[in-house]
Amino acid sequence: MVSTVERDGGTWYQCDECGLLLDDQGDAKAHEENCDAEDPSYLQ
Ligand SMILES: [Zn+2]
Repeated sequence: MVSTVERDGGTWYQCDECGLLLDDQGDAKAHEENCDAEDPSYLQ
């Protein structure tokens, strides 16, 4: 999951798995799909 975070007058996107904060929703989504903290079992 990616959560939106209000910070420094703007909206950021935080990865719920590892806590990484990104300023672009597309980047956050791309990161989420490749997040190392996520359980990789579903990739098989
Ligand atoms: Zn992550």
